[in-house]
Amino acid sequence: MTADSIDLRRDVALANRILERTGLSNAFGHASARVAGTETFLLPTRRSPGLAEAATLLVVDFDGNVVGGDGTPNSELWIHARLYAARPDVGGVVHAHPESCVCLTGIGEPHRVVHNQGGPFFGRVAHYDDVGLIRTRALGDRVARTLASGAIATMMRGHGITTACGDVRTATIAAVFLEESASLQLRMLAAAGGDGARIRAYTQDEARILDDQLGPAIVARAWDYHANRVT
Ligand SMILES: [Zn+2]
Repeated sequence: MTADSIDLRRDVALANRILERTGLSNAFGHASARVAGTETFLLPTRRSPGLAEAATLLVVDFDGNVVGGDGTPNSELWIHARLYAARPDVGGVVHAHPESCVCLTGIGEPHRVVHNQGGPFFGRVAHYDDVGLIRTRALGDRVARTLASGAIATMMRGHGITTACGDVRTATIAAVFLEESASLQLRMLAAAGGDGARIRAYTQDEARILDDQLGPAIVARAWDYHANRVT
């Protein structure tokens, strides 16, 4: 095993444990990373992300075959497989079931930028309205189509979210920020008596100022914090 793959395995295991520790997932949810230069990715076995370990990650190809490791992959592996196939720019994918994001989908309220860490999401959050788990290749392709080039995340009605970024660290921090954003949006909506027009959501120009919130420096700091809480 090369030093590179050891580092990537460690990051994927940490990403999964962060999802559970931050409350974005409990028994379900998963983070993955593309293995550079191949048509494969690292994905945990079918357990809580909080129990993911670097040594037991599976290597899965874009057709959903396990080509390395022992065990059964998460049944929604198709989200990851078909996103990597569709988006060569994507190096990390997170799928989780965070409650505030699910609440937004349940009231038909699109995501809005309401705080600084939400800035990078302006115009980059898609919505996937079909209910049910993504357990087939065809459904994986449907999810991937909502995450067209440039999209960071898709909000999946009654289900959760999927983030797709250049690497697994960024995809993980994006998921954390998106749930934080959704939670604040819900609280603002409640405080405003349900009147969405009263929320002082960021304009596109305002959001653009915060584009660096998913840049390397901020992601590194947020990752350092969260990774240290799970190790
Ligand atoms: Zn799911």
